[in-house]
Amino acid sequence: MLCLGIESTAHTFGVSVVSSDGKVLSDVKDAYKAPPGSGIHPREASRHHSEAAPKLVQDALDVAKVRLDEIDAIAYSAGPGLGPCLRVGATVARALASYYRKPLVPANHAIGHIELGCLLSGAKDPVVLLVSGGHTMIVACHSGRWRVFGETLDITVGQLIDQFGREAGLSSPAGPQIENLAKASNEYVPLPYSVKGNDVSLSGVITSAKKLMHSGNNVSKVSFSLQETAFAMLTEVTERALAFSEKKEVLVTGGVAANSRLKEMLDVMCREQDSKLYMIPREKSGDCGLQIAWTGILAYQAGITIPIDQSFVKQSWRLDRVDAPWRN
Ligand code: AMP
Ligand code: MG
Repeated sequence: MLCLGIESTAHTFGVSVVSSDGKVLSDVKDAYKAPPGSGIHPREASRHHSEAAPKLVQDALDVAKVRLDEIDAIAYSAGPGLGPCLRVGATVARALASYYRKPLVPANHAIGHIELGCLLSGAKDPVVLLVSGGHTMIVACHSGRWRVFGETLDITVGQLIDQFGREAGLSSPAGPQIENLAKASNEYVPLPYSVKGNDVSLSGVITSAKKLMHSGNNVSKVSFSLQETAFAMLTEVTERALAFSEKKEVLVTGGVAANSRLKEMLDVMCREQDSKLYMIPREKSGDCGLQIAWTGILAYQAGITIPIDQSFVKQSWRLDRVDAPWRN
């Protein structure tokens, strides 16, 4: 079977066609770009999505060499995300499902990052470190549901990086630029290391990092220290979840999974724990239609569809509130 998936939780509008045997027929996207020094503006991002949607849906079909009537299900990211952005994706999905009489499947964006990570890396039953603009969570599946072992108590690691980047005058998302700046230094300045039980707190890191930069420390040194501190905290809580769950795999997914220093730290930890590290490939680590199309396949095959008049978007839709019966 074929599923067309639509992603539109934040910056990215993405459309993908994937088959039930995991073959990626197409995955196209375009992202709203915030002006340098500013963050995402939900209304402007949703305007971008409305303008980009028709061409991207057509491109996804053209690249896949299929017609809409050959698609078996339409999946959309129902949350969590920014309301105006989510509504564009849901509206496009409803229109297609209604006109072409196709089943509609709501997909949780976070589960999308995880299931795509499993598909592309080969991880089967991992402890997952989900690190992106919208998420910082350590989760694992138990009895047909992804359960949260630990998470951020305040900002996500993506927000940490992007907020610091904005303060340094970079445009969002700033991850790749901060990673490059960090590579140019190996001078560590201590920043607040705050692990509370299985959770992490990153707000102290951002406040101190901004202060350090404004008191004359160069951006490379502060970027390096910020990465070292935040990634060490994430590695510690991931290690704890691994020991507790007795799983033997760690999967890193979400936009921040593209960071090579994070991978390096987790690699050392996994070797010490006799476990295997799986990374989502860098080019699929950020938001994309494929994460939704693939989750749509899994959900649809497990019997999950929603009537168009009951379809929803939820700005807050935690992954531990969503059944994942395909994992039973
Ligand atoms: P997502 O929300 O999954 O699209 O992920 C976007 C987040 O990933 C943004 O906060 C980016 O700054 C961050 N990101 C992207 N590439 C990197 C990288 N190489 N290192 C660290 N963070 C990154
Ligand atoms: Mg995301």
